[in-house]
Amino acid sequence: MTKYPPEPYRIKMVEPIRMTTREDRERAIKKAGYNTFLLDSEDVYIDLLTDSGTSAMSDNQWSGLMQGDEAYAGSKNWHNLRDTVQKVFGYKYVVPTHQGRGAENILSKIMIKEGDYIPGNMYFTTTRAHQELAGGNFRDVIINEAHDPNSNHPFKGNVDLEKYQNLINEVGPEKIPYIAVGVTVNMAGGQPVSMENLKQVRDISKKHGIKVIFDATRCVENSYFIKEREKGYEDKSISEILKEMMSLGDGATMSGKKDPLVNIGGFLALNDKSLYQKATQLVVVYEGMPSYGGMSGRDMEAMARGIYESLDYHYIEHRVNQLQYLGDKLDEAGIPIVKPVGGHAVYLDASKFLSHIPREEFPAQTLAANIYLDSGVRCMERGAVSAGRDKDGNNIYPNLETVRLTVPRRVYTYAHLDVVADSVIKLYEKRDQLVGLRFTYEAPVLRFFTARFEPVK
Ligand SMILES: *Cc1c(COP(=O)(O)O)cnc(C)c1O
Repeated sequence: MTKYPPEPYRIKMVEPIRMTTREDRERAIKKAGYNTFLLDSEDVYIDLLTDSGTSAMSDNQWSGLMQGDEAYAGSKNWHNLRDTVQKVFGYKYVVPTHQGRGAENILSKIMIKEGDYIPGNMYFTTTRAHQELAGGNFRDVIINEAHDPNSNHPFKGNVDLEKYQNLINEVGPEKIPYIAVGVTVNMAGGQPVSMENLKQVRDISKKHGIKVIFDATRCVENSYFIKEREKGYEDKSISEILKEMMSLGDGATMSGKKDPLVNIGGFLALNDKSLYQKATQLVVVYEGMPSYGGMSGRDMEAMARGIYESLDYHYIEHRVNQLQYLGDKLDEAGIPIVKPVGGHAVYLDASKFLSHIPREEFPAQTLAANIYLDSGVRCMERGAVSAGRDKDGNNIYPNLETVRLTVPRRVYTYAHLDVVADSVIKLYEKRDQLVGLRFTYEAPVLRFFTARFEPVK
């Protein structure tokens, strides 16, 4: 075995991608206002914008699509999906949803009362939005190391037990319906949570009658990190570790677009019968019948099969190591990246990379636009542009000014990642020539999706 495990699959069907010229890309990025979100996908060579809904399905999943039972009620694919979730995650009740945020909406509505507090190991955009829309207040209880790009903590996603206990003391356990635990933590860079930490969170929560609800969207990646890094788990299977993790909670929300290897879908899983009944009352309003929840029969079949495939050790080993490969290549060339590399993306530290560009000229946005210009690789700004403005209208400058290189599952090979690394390294060598950006258009909310820019000089 080489240092980086080879692809545990062979390619049966190919999707040609367009090779563009520098002139093509100059035209395209100008048209997109130097915002990679506004590029047409046809102008992109290697697309590392997101790993959400971009997975490649297997022959087994595609053949499952042909067995879609599109009955309005009681589809056999629903039974398969429900049985799969019960078996793999160990929860009693399953509510299907169109994607992860559908499950978050229902969960928030049935559990949160006006004025409640919901602690979490760092926020996620849609999760927090639904908590707040339901009248709740989010409180960050992740360990401090998660906010430090230079910390090499192996479980940077851990809950800070002291912060959690302090919140319970401050507002009282009756104001905390549940703690939301992300495994892995997306906004921290795909950083994992240890089993030991989850057990401690369970103990504190149980003592105070607070439920533990997982954001299980990236739970297979988390299981792999536990196997690799936590004592006592080296000989356990991914599926044993996942089931043990989930047994420490009372339920989970899931986006099928990430670890379950499908392009659309999601679910809410629960152990409590009365909560489940409340959830089914809402799912008919927002998603669809409790036996499809916004998915077609074929979607449910593909997700049931994808869940099983994601538990394969060789699959997840290869996925996480692709990220490690890209991270190591950049690190060895002296490129500043956030360490350790997480489960789904490599983050470039743009303030260090482009230290001559002031933060008000958006180094991360500048870097993302220039990576595209250089090689047709699309990535995403995660820094001041994403953070937006405060109540007084001033730009917020978060600790981390990063560019996210997100690798879709089973889509690209190591050779594609070489193209990405070479392009970033080449830009680093001539970084002094890059100039910053200023807004030409800015929306009042979630500006990063639609903002337009021009070079400062
Ligand atoms: C993507 C994501 C969600 C939301 O899921 P959608 O399917 O996009 O609605 C929630 N939590 C995490 C950690 C995610 O990565």
